[in-house]
Amino acid sequence: MTASLEAAARDALARLEWAGRRRQLTPTAPRDDRWLSRGGRVLVDFSSNDYLGLARDPALREAARAALDRYGAGAGASRLITGDHPLYGELERELAGLKGTGSAVVFGSGYLANIGIIGTLVDRHDLVLADKLNHACLADGAALSGARVLRYPHGDPDAVEARLARYRHRYRHCLLVTDGIFSMDGDRAPLAELAELARHYDAWLMTDDAHGLGVVGDGAGSTAAAGLDPGDVPLQMGTLSKAAGSYGGYLCASATVTEWVRNRARSFIYTTGLPPATVAASHAAIQRVRSDPALRTRPLALAQRLASALDRPPPESPILPLVFGDEAQALAAQQALAEEGLLIQAIRPPTVPKGSARLRITVRAPHTEADIDHLADTLGQALPASQPAEAP
Ligand SMILES: *Cc1c(COP(=O)(O)O)cnc(C)c1O
Repeated sequence: MTASLEAAARDALARLEWAGRRRQLTPTAPRDDRWLSRGGRVLVDFSSNDYLGLARDPALREAARAALDRYGAGAGASRLITGDHPLYGELERELAGLKGTGSAVVFGSGYLANIGIIGTLVDRHDLVLADKLNHACLADGAALSGARVLRYPHGDPDAVEARLARYRHRYRHCLLVTDGIFSMDGDRAPLAELAELARHYDAWLMTDDAHGLGVVGDGAGSTAAAGLDPGDVPLQMGTLSKAAGSYGGYLCASATVTEWVRNRARSFIYTTGLPPATVAASHAAIQRVRSDPALRTRPLALAQRLASALDRPPPESPILPLVFGDEAQALAAQQALAEEGLLIQAIRPPTVPKGSARLRITVRAPHTEADIDHLADTLGQALPASQPAEAP
């Protein structure tokens, strides 16, 4: 045992503890598509990103089982060696079909997709413009790429234009990257305006649609929800780990661009392919999204019911934040809701900006109307006196 290593770990943990930032894993087992059991309690799941309840869907499980029996538990190698089992092609065709793009490429996860895609497209000669509230893996991908990164105030096309006008000409290429739906706030990016600016200044618009696939724009995500054509947003990445109920990441783009990514993205090349069962489940999920309009519209409809019961404006996604600011208050509210059988996780910095600790509610298709009403009532009664504040 290395004494200095142990001391460094203890030190770091003590500093986190002191700052109230120490995180702990809490074993949580799904019971069915609505209920989770945690700490001896059974709670309604208002926190996971399994928006459509597909993670436990019989058709997905059956597809995964069949792939497991046919191809085994693991891919055996990276996709460029022997790991490109036939299920990948089917999934990529299905994704490109849903998004209306020429092609798709599947990665090991959304995180791996973002750290690989951005470094393929841009380097130190180029500029990345990024929304301040973008997901952490977009920031990591941009940092790894070596490009100059400028962040702009959240959802502000005027700020984007100011930066394009001032800096665009100094760089070879410019990547304009934004969450399609912001993961901690639930609002949508102003994609129509961003697409217009991207056209005008020859920037490449990229969306991270982790929270859009399956739930907005007829299941096709935020580009469709904004009334845009696939060509307006030439780079649409996302994850198979949320509404698709499975695991993996993807980029939908033209065939030339996905070919570029397959050849250059290090997080695609130097990692083992996904287990066949996982790819099969994703394939079944995308088929389901495409064929089941009642399922894919339900989360947003239920979120509307909740928002109106809480006197809040109509939501743009199934994500509803209740911002407290104070971390202790957000944690106390999580506790109070758990007493009522509701699991809503408090989200604290650094996942959200300082002073904006919140409860992040995700409304999901398996919820019943009664679940939503119970949540609305409980939020009305059981919350500490402090009113949730507006998001900063
Ligand atoms: C969850 C998430 C990711 C990461 O996707 P994984 O498949 O879980 O790695 C990327 N971007 C956003 C906006 C996310 O919410």
